[in-house]
Amino acid sequence: MSKRALISVSDKTGIVEFAGELVKLGWEIISTGGTKATLDTAEIPNVSVDDVTGFPEMMDGRVKTLHPLVHGALLGRRDLATHMEAMREHDIQPIDLVIVNLYPFKETLLAGGSYEEMIEKIDIGGPSMLRSAAKNHAFVTVLTDPTDYAQVLSELTENGETLFETRQQLAAKVFRLTASYDALIADYLGKEIHVTDPERTTLTYDVNQRLRYGENEHQAAVFYQTALPTSYSIAQSKQLNGKALSFNNIRDADAAIKIARDFTDAPTVVALKHMNPCGIGTAETIEQAWDYAFEADPVSIFGGIIVLNREVDAATAEKMHKIFLEIIIAPSYSDEALEILTMKKKNLRLLQLDFSQAEVSKKEMEYTGVLGGLLVQNQDVIVETPAEWTVATKTQPTATQFEALKFAWKAVKFVKSNGILVSNEHQTLGVGPGQTNRVGSVKLALEAAFDKPSALTENAVLASDAFFPFADNIDEIAKSGVKAIVQPGGSVRDQEVIDACDKYGIAMVFTGVRHFRH
Ligand code: 5GP
Repeated sequence: MSKRALISVSDKTGIVEFAGELVKLGWEIISTGGTKATLDTAEIPNVSVDDVTGFPEMMDGRVKTLHPLVHGALLGRRDLATHMEAMREHDIQPIDLVIVNLYPFKETLLAGGSYEEMIEKIDIGGPSMLRSAAKNHAFVTVLTDPTDYAQVLSELTENGETLFETRQQLAAKVFRLTASYDALIADYLGKEIHVTDPERTTLTYDVNQRLRYGENEHQAAVFYQTALPTSYSIAQSKQLNGKALSFNNIRDADAAIKIARDFTDAPTVVALKHMNPCGIGTAETIEQAWDYAFEADPVSIFGGIIVLNREVDAATAEKMHKIFLEIIIAPSYSDEALEILTMKKKNLRLLQLDFSQAEVSKKEMEYTGVLGGLLVQNQDVIVETPAEWTVATKTQPTATQFEALKFAWKAVKFVKSNGILVSNEHQTLGVGPGQTNRVGSVKLALEAAFDKPSALTENAVLASDAFFPFADNIDEIAKSGVKAIVQPGGSVRDQEVIDACDKYGIAMVFTGVRHFRH
């Protein structure tokens, strides 16, 4: 008796060729409505599943293959006399190969499908057949992906059957597919797409790409993206030039676009190294913003990740082209700018990013892996109102200082804790990231800032991502000449810190919000 394959595919890629080869190998083919039409057109002999079950497809295709003559044929163990006896008794003929891919639930959702359409796109018979076949992979081969057709065909051609190992791997693939398919349906029905409650998060991810390696060469790594793409994301950005992104590139680029997202009002350039900003500049034009970001730290920017929030023009491109940069990200590039940037720089990674969805992306959950678990939280995207900040000191900040304090506060949020940042009203001047005591970060930031020409530091202010635990920080700051500070407040020693500021005539503002970033 010839072997039988059941084919029921929504995505008909490669199916005609594959079915044709099966027929040549002597297989009998059973198919469902749409699939049958495709095979008939290609003149591939096949029988309708209706003829096998004796039931017509009904209820708009809701019931096509849900029948003991299909599921018995898939689930029956060929090595058990009782199963084989049941098959004989009920006239069930084994099915040895199943090719199914599911109703396009995700694609329909992305295309803005209505609730009714989405319900119809919940595939029932497909996953059922896949699960039956996958459970019985000792005897049945199950295919869900056209890229696996070739291997199965070559095994069938060579051996007349597939290898157990292949069937087992294909079965595993089925359960991965049905698990993520169901998870997305659950997300949709539970309205858990873009929820803000970390407890209600289900994790539906697809592989974006396999990476050459992880943080270091001996670490294997994969980049996953959310099943429903977020357009303001590195996963969805378009690469126009350069080598593939590495693991570290992806993390740095992600950190940089999160900073740029908070500076959308004016043309802004963010330069980032190793997860910390090394220069942020904001100005009337993107070229001026680049100048500010560059001037902020001309040393660290070497090999940096750059995000520009406006179209890159030729003048800005000329300036960027002069130095070695790892990645440039922008919403668009003028033709001339693109030509300049790619000239003799085939490795420079140029990314185009859709900024229109930047605000929406703030709703995404943030995940951190730990051994044996996962931490899930909302992003640090609280809306803050500087008009409501309190001035804790006798000295009030000047209007220019207040502008600088707002800028510094927006920027310090992205500095690794303990994070200190010195800036004027349009550019960072010194960044002190990640020290294990706060005064250490203060010293780093001040040293970097006051290395610069005095014209830049004239209105320099300082921001601290969390409160100052001791007044020693203020002594350091006073020595530098900085005259205004912004910090959350809330230390038991706040009064000592305020007194120290008053002693030095420094204005200090409390925001009431802390921005740790570990
Ligand atoms: P066709 O285009 O061949 O008519 O339909 C193929 C699709 O139908 C496949 O995606 C398959 O998963 C799905 N399918 C097969 N049997 C059933 C069934 O009994 N009920 C439902 N709802 N879908 C089925």
